Amino acid sequence: MTSTMTRRDERLLVGGVWREASNGGRFDVTNPATGEVVGSAPNGTAEDVRAAIDAAAAALPAWRATTALQRARLLRRAAEVIRERVEEIGMIMTLEQGKPLGEARGEVEYAASFLEWFAGEAERTYGEVVPPMNAANRVLTLRQGVGVVAAITPWNFPAAMMTRKLGPAMAAGCTSVVKPASATPLTAAAVLRAIEDAGVPKGVVNLITSRDSGMVSRELFGDRRVRKISFTGSTEVGKDLIRASAHQVKRLSLELGGHAPFVVFDDSDIDEAVDSLIASKFRNAGQTCVCANRAYIQRGIYDAFVAKLGSKVAALAVGNGLTAGIAIGPMIDDRGVEKADEHVQDAVLRGARLVTGGTRLTGDGFDGGSFYAPTVLDGVTDEMLIYREETFGPVAGLTVFDTEEEVVTMANDSIYGLAAYFHTRDYARLLRVAEKLEYGIIGANTGIISAANAPFGGVKESGYGREGGSVGIDEYLDTKYICIGGVGV
Ligand code: NAP
Repeated sequence: MTSTMTRRDERLLVGGVWREASNGGRFDVTNPATGEVVGSAPNGTAEDVRAAIDAAAAALPAWRATTALQRARLLRRAAEVIRERVEEIGMIMTLEQGKPLGEARGEVEYAASFLEWFAGEAERTYGEVVPPMNAANRVLTLRQGVGVVAAITPWNFPAAMMTRKLGPAMAAGCTSVVKPASATPLTAAAVLRAIEDAGVPKGVVNLITSRDSGMVSRELFGDRRVRKISFTGSTEVGKDLIRASAHQVKRLSLELGGHAPFVVFDDSDIDEAVDSLIASKFRNAGQTCVCANRAYIQRGIYDAFVAKLGSKVAALAVGNGLTAGIAIGPMIDDRGVEKADEHVQDAVLRGARLVTGGTRLTGDGFDGGSFYAPTVLDGVTDEMLIYREETFGPVAGLTVFDTEEEVVTMANDSIYGLAAYFHTRDYARLLRVAEKLEYGIIGANTGIISAANAPFGGVKESGYGREGGSVGIDEYLDTKYICIGGVGV
């Protein structure tokens, strides 16, 4: 499958120079659909991280002195260049991450949309003139970029999770050091090449790839010039970063794990709800933080729902994401497959019924890759692992419920609070339930909720801070208050 694209050996980007790691080290990048090596990236060192911070700090004064309009124009141009390269970047993403090419193209478009959205927000970082308490004074507020920021991003959306941070950072006049997941450094480099080719000045964005994420994080958290770190990834690592941030009281935003409930009330259109659950659950082989992980179906429609979902999921085509017609690609690696299988085996052992799937896929077209069959489990209960933990795989577990009150309690029974979904045609219920769900994002009658113009983020152990929307830029701005005395009346 690599025949359609030559192998890519990427470099670090430090101060506008694409270069090797200081010790020449590299690591391989593999295709999760085949196990083949598709490229490599530099294994950045502590010296490289410091050089990237130096470059970001050196570029900061000139960048923050640009006007919002200049930054907005560059962001719009960068979005255009990313879109012009949708085929190239999409192909790189499918090769290193596995998602079907159509989904990869969609993510490239989604990644570009963050730069475009924050181009608009750059021009709206207004301060205020506040009526003074003392008549002789004048009171103003300014909103200024925080300075050098660092972005640590995951492999599941290797382009969009990066631009969701770089867009507002650049718009706010900040310079950045990016550390992508070591599974997907090639997409990150391709996106940064597009941003650079759009004319963004040297040093405004810098890229460090490394297998030693602990070392990168220590360097970033230990350097006083880095004023803010934005992280998207697991709750476990997020908690480590909260501890690390205490030392220098580093500003942090955290987009962490999720465990989304998906509720279907019996007044719903069953076919619509089935399609919506499939879109939410099986996109990216179930490897999204907003994937439904617990489906609650009201008793009156439970059997019909299970039957329709089971037959549609059994028909989903699994395979290499470069093959036309594939709905579900590989999981990122074998650890992902093992975790999904552990959740399925545990559920079956505790009494769940396997409706479809439930096995690792092997044989022709699957050997060498990390494939798991799209799976539906009926009769999931709160003693099962899948009910409590993020599966991060193509497994839908179904639970029956009777009343609205009961299901809201069950849906909120989680340490996570990122996304929740429900289907109903009763609009009074729609408002009541949306208000009661303890989640940062609610999908009502839809399984697809992500967009650049909406504030994305969670409550509880899903993190803090919001990305996207009109509030997304606030994470990269400090509010300064200026009190001018003796002006008189
Ligand atoms: P992860 O293991 O936490 O990794 C995320 C990033 O952190 C990667 O760049 C990783 O680098 C790096 N990292 C790992 N250990 C680190 C450490 N000790 N210090 C600093 N950085 C470290 O998560 P993942 O498996 O890539 O991503 C899946 C998780 O992300 C899921 O829990 C998912 O729900 C969550 N997620 C959340 C959102 C959201 O918006 N809330 C969006 C997408 C994903 P290496 O790859 O090099 O280890």
